[in-house]
Amino acid sequence: MATVREGSLEAPTRHPLDWQQPEFYDQENLFTELERVFDICHGCRRCVSLCHSFPTLFDLVDESDTMEVDGVAKDDYWSVVDHCYLCDLCYLTKCPYVPPHEWNVDFPHLMLRAKAIKFKQQGASLRDKVLSSTDSVGKLASIPVVSTVVNAANANGGFRKVLQSALGVSADAVLPKYYSNSLRQRLGFESGEGAQPAGKTTGRVALFATCYGNRNEPSMGEDLKAVFEHNDIPVTLAPKEQCCGMPKLELGDLEAVKRAKEANIPVLAKLVDEGWDIVAPIPSCALMFRQELPLMFPDDADVIKVQQAIFDPFEYLMLRHKHDLLKTDFKNPLGRVAYQVACHQRVQKIGLKTRDLLQLIPDTEIETIERCSGHDGTYAVKVEFHEISMKIARPVVNRVRKFEADYLTSDCIMAGKQIAHGLDDGTEAMHPMTLIRKAYGL
Ligand code: SF4
Ligand code: SF4
Repeated sequence: MATVREGSLEAPTRHPLDWQQPEFYDQENLFTELERVFDICHGCRRCVSLCHSFPTLFDLVDESDTMEVDGVAKDDYWSVVDHCYLCDLCYLTKCPYVPPHEWNVDFPHLMLRAKAIKFKQQGASLRDKVLSSTDSVGKLASIPVVSTVVNAANANGGFRKVLQSALGVSADAVLPKYYSNSLRQRLGFESGEGAQPAGKTTGRVALFATCYGNRNEPSMGEDLKAVFEHNDIPVTLAPKEQCCGMPKLELGDLEAVKRAKEANIPVLAKLVDEGWDIVAPIPSCALMFRQELPLMFPDDADVIKVQQAIFDPFEYLMLRHKHDLLKTDFKNPLGRVAYQVACHQRVQKIGLKTRDLLQLIPDTEIETIERCSGHDGTYAVKVEFHEISMKIARPVVNRVRKFEADYLTSDCIMAGKQIAHGLDDGTEAMHPMTLIRKAYGL
């Protein structure tokens, strides 16, 4: 007799995404799988507080005639899918039924499959196309003069109301600023001479700046370079890059993810061949190369090569610290630092390296908050989700307020800004690399 075990004892495995097989796009087959997994979730309900997908599902079940999943109309399944922003937390932090458990629950990738089917059938709205086209929008919005106009318009209440009714971009959401003086214009290319390898690090780093880091937060890359060079790690920019594809993945546009992969992977794989390690300062972009692309393209040797050589910046510095190659000559204490751990960083399973490094700074107390900010890519910016996103952020906002922090930080700077928005008291979120630079006095 087969034994159905409660919970999984083995380390979770992740099955590759069969996104190139025709059955992947079979809607009837999708609904059968959704019903199966929803039924398991209904019996479990562990994830109720993670996001709005699960409460949406459980409300649908509880309000149905049968009070079971079979009483929920199939059309209503889409509302569960729409609230998932693929943070991956349910898979990696909660679910005991993930493979190799025989129930084989992979809730995020089931949501992704549903999004991919919806995208294939309906395409995307103009708003969603604009929000996920970070490279083309960024290129346009960061042209000198245009950036000034865009930033001024985005800060103007009247314009934001028009934008909300015309495009569905919430008038209340924080929108990123655009800089014409991009990171690519600020940083040069380096030879990497003088690098000292240690453990699995080569000691020379090519920065995958990320579209956000290039045009929306260029000072973050400058801070990273200053901190790494202070620790004798030469930093160069990847000679060419485009958006990692995460916003397109969240939309279910898997062909666009493939195009992004085809643009980025050859450049990054060549850098790895030349002896560079890759560092990406935005957790979602690192996750794209570490997890999503390898699951979409498991047989692509270059994808796997980049997966093995890409690091989170704090993971990198702490790996060097093990070999006494991190300087601890901090000059400025930071006081009380509220640190939100971004979901896409948590699921990389590298441990709390940012916190560990911040803790090395004398007279610095860290309040570590492992809860979702509700920002999640473009979710918080969409008018229909903004209020819910702020509700998801509320427990984090309350923790920061209670801690009376001197600094608010998150590796995902957009998450930091969402929390600052919830605080609404003039607090500005800073990237932890900016805080480290400050502590070094660089
Ligand atoms: S992946 Fe994140 S947003 Fe999606 S259902 Fe799981 S916890 Fe919710
Ligand atoms: S995803 Fe897993 S842990 Fe979460 S509600 Fe469903 S079965 Fe439970």
